[in-house]
Amino acid sequence: ARINIAIDGPAGAGKSTVARMVARDLAYIYVDTGAMYRAVTLKAIEAGLSMDDDVSVGKLARELDIVLLPGKEAQLVLVNGQDVSPLLRTLDINRNVSYIARLVSVRKQMADLQRRMAMAKGVVMDGRDIGTHVLPDAELKVFLTATPRERATRRYRELGDNPGITLDQLEREIAERDRLDQEREIAPLLRAQDARLIDSTGRSIDEVAEEIVQWGLAIART
Ligand code: C5P
Repeated sequence: ARINIAIDGPAGAGKSTVARMVARDLAYIYVDTGAMYRAVTLKAIEAGLSMDDDVSVGKLARELDIVLLPGKEAQLVLVNGQDVSPLLRTLDINRNVSYIARLVSVRKQMADLQRRMAMAKGVVMDGRDIGTHVLPDAELKVFLTATPRERATRRYRELGDNPGITLDQLEREIAERDRLDQEREIAPLLRAQDARLIDSTGRSIDEVAEEIVQWGLAIART
């Protein structure tokens, strides 16, 4: 039978790469929930909204038709038909997304959408609150971490040739984002009690993905 797999953890732990590989190996659908919060953040910035205005950003989010499509490398994110994927991994979005992710109405809308995406099973979903809030009944839950330095290094590579920030600064910004994610009132970043813990520091992404695939296959057989 098909199962759902929830992969949570802090920024830069390797969740999206691992989740994409697991989904590919199991022929499951990959859902990157961080990209959904990033898309809302992009649109809120474009509209000039304040990052703590729950009513206005909530209203804006209701007008967004967010569609995730499997792409060649990363997942494509369409917002009202426009491919915004290349715009989601900038410093500006990194710095604002955790404020948008604290808004009650935004979280509720995203979680509803994510649950609908997982209804048919066979989904690998990565985020911060998947095992605890979005899919508490997921058959397999993983909490993926790595040291702050390793996570910063991974995010640094994503920023390309002109990062516009030093590795030390980036490490501090990631720590700040983790703090905001852990301390928010609703659906904070937290390991679900029944989540299996994986520290990916010094391990290859392939090896971590393979471990999760084997767990998934074992559970799906029972
Ligand atoms: O995974 P990624 O780094 O793209 O997520 C960006 C931000 O979106 C996180 O720092 C967090 O603030 C928010 N997020 C969240 N809940 C999720 C996924 C992401 O609050 N399920």
